[in-house]
Amino acid sequence: MEKKLDGKKIAAAITEEVRDGVREMLARGIAPRLDVLLVGDDPASEVYVGSKGRMCEKLGIASTTHRLPAGTGAEEIATLIRRLNEDEAVDGILIQLPLPSHLPTRELLELIDPLKDVDGFHPENIGRLQQGRPRLVPCTPAGIMEMLRREEIPIEGRRAVVIGRSDIVGKPMAMLLMHANATVTICHSRTRDLASITGQAEILIAAAGSMSLIGAEHVSEGTVVVDVGMHRLSDPTRFEELYGSSEKKRAAFERRGSVLTGDVDYMAVAPKASRITPVPGGVGPLTIAMLMHNTLHAARLRREGVDDS
Ligand code: NAD
Repeated sequence: MEKKLDGKKIAAAITEEVRDGVREMLARGIAPRLDVLLVGDDPASEVYVGSKGRMCEKLGIASTTHRLPAGTGAEEIATLIRRLNEDEAVDGILIQLPLPSHLPTRELLELIDPLKDVDGFHPENIGRLQQGRPRLVPCTPAGIMEMLRREEIPIEGRRAVVIGRSDIVGKPMAMLLMHANATVTICHSRTRDLASITGQAEILIAAAGSMSLIGAEHVSEGTVVVDVGMHRLSDPTRFEELYGSSEKKRAAFERRGSVLTGDVDYMAVAPKASRITPVPGGVGPLTIAMLMHNTLHAARLRREGVDDS
């Protein structure tokens, strides 16, 4: 069995299934559609929104990006959200985060119709997840669960440690693992002696947003390691420390002047892990695949009354 958990390959399988589902809906005269709100001109957000649009196109999902200037007021955005909520043709509404700091992110997310909330951030969807009857689940943790399932990695009864307690990744991740009958520990920035806790993990999810936080000393032999972190590494000294022995990475670094890296020191941790996700090519592709999956699911829920209670 290959040690590397190939997120790209699993994501391709998921999107293939979504493509078939979209095709079936189109044949019944229903065109699934995703609307994305992009406020301001954050370059990273531009990249994410661009790749979401391209993926929609590839799968036959209609998509519209609403570009608003950075100074747009909350009321104007709220009006747009209400309009999209009422628009029968719109299945999914996504607000690209982060929003400029003057905007009330939480309040705006709460305005989205829960049935169109493809990011799964609405309190109703979060509440349902907590109650163990999920409907639209945040894409990154949903993608990780899908990967574990498809790779037949057992979860029930195992010790899982999640590093990070954000609403987007850490908390929903912990909830999903718990409902899959893992024994879950959540670590965060105030956790003392991280290694003593992560060392007990049979499944370790690193979502701290801290470059190479997790080294060999943090994991035990045989741990399944999932790296959610995403960082651009451009410092040559740091590059040498992390990837000095990898010719492939060095070629990429020299070509582009930087590489993407995660919360896990891959070269140090991989020899101890039983399975491990790389960065890039691990969790990232799964996230976007699950956004497509959620958009199709939202279309089915609302337009075909699929029962999810
Ligand atoms: P966040 O900053 O909202 O949350 C980070 C969490 O990690 C916090 O709860 C904090 O308490 C905890 N933390 C920080 N430093 C820590 C430390 N030293 N020890 C233990 N816990 C610590 O970040 P987020 O939105 O949850 O994202 C986390 C990372 O995942 C980021 O690198 C982000 O870019 C990446 N991300 C990737 C994808 C993807 O698709 N690959 C999706 C979402 C987020």
